[in-house]
Amino acid sequence: MQRLKKGDIVKVTSGKDKGKTAKILRVYADLGKAIVEGINFSKKHLRRTKDNPKGGIIEKENPIHLSNLMLFCKACNRPVRVKMSELKDNTKSRACVRCNATI
Ligand SMILES: [Zn+2]
Repeated sequence: MQRLKKGDIVKVTSGKDKGKTAKILRVYADLGKAIVEGINFSKKHLRRTKDNPKGGIIEKENPIHLSNLMLFCKACNRPVRVKMSELKDNTKSRACVRCNATI
């Protein structure tokens, strides 16, 4: 089970966007990375092609390593570590280490 998943609100703990809080748009589990909304943007210059005769610049989010993200707990109103807790029906869920809230 992944520690972070799509739709989670996370805080960035390193890099140029350190300190920002944003939503995970996509997780690449095999890479251990995630795309986070508005985080780690880069500009990419496009060449002129037949499909795109003007060329131009696109800005897109680059994947950021999961170790640079912390899950944000709404109850604690701060980024927290998560733990896995096993529920009665043997499914696992993530819980905030501080307040024990299931996330
Ligand atoms: Zn909490």
